[in-house]
Amino acid sequence: MALDALHGEIVGCRRCPRLVAWREQVAREKVARFRDEPYWGRPAPGFGDPDARILLVGLAPAAHGANRTGRVFTGDASGDFLWSALHAVGLADRSSSRRADDGLTLHGVRVAAAVRCAPPANKPTIDERNACAPFLARELTILDTVRVIVALGEFAWNAVLRTLAGTGEAVPRPRPRFGHGTEVAIGDRILIGSYHPSQQNTFTGKLTAPMFAVVLARARSLAGLTGEVIACPLCQTYLQGRSRRLR
Ligand code: SF4
Repeated sequence: MALDALHGEIVGCRRCPRLVAWREQVAREKVARFRDEPYWGRPAPGFGDPDARILLVGLAPAAHGANRTGRVFTGDASGDFLWSALHAVGLADRSSSRRADDGLTLHGVRVAAAVRCAPPANKPTIDERNACAPFLARELTILDTVRVIVALGEFAWNAVLRTLAGTGEAVPRPRPRFGHGTEVAIGDRILIGSYHPSQQNTFTGKLTAPMFAVVLARARSLAGLTGEVIACPLCQTYLQGRSRRLR
């Protein structure tokens, strides 16, 4: 119920005039390849298991991804990469998802964004970042089963550190710097950094599927998720014999 209430507030939020104007303009004008599809044109709330032990935090919805489909990481190349990797390590029930109503189910994982509206050029202002921050803080408070937070990119990393510090957690000083694979224990949670699965990173090879699967497998292990052995189609050599499916 608390999550439902939070979702309702997020979806109805119009706190940031520039982002409200942008998300609605994108939804009106569309892009040629999606011209016949309805656009969501509103904030994208978190998605996934309400009893998650792992929370993945991204930057913000993509203009023609979540801003179109209404679900984080759904309908764009970043999402294709993310769902495939989550499925490979047994945390999602399918390897691709392009629509919000396709029944995708995450096991032990939830996905959210630091900023819930699509920003122009993927760059929210500091004021917009700060305006949206309370939503992440509340989501983390509600999700009291989360033990591992995976920050997808430096923006999310810093947003999570600020959020945890703001909720009274003992965040180390100086604040730990973002790095792919960096881990920091904060209270009873562990924060892990990963390069964001953006096209810019995945197309250039900065983030490869095996690199991402390793981070997710590590998060799963730290979160204490166990089950049957599964062989990862992305990075067989790393995961075979160690990787476990939740259920
Ligand atoms: Fe509201 Fe966050 Fe969107 Fe700003 S970015 S309008 S605070 S949901």
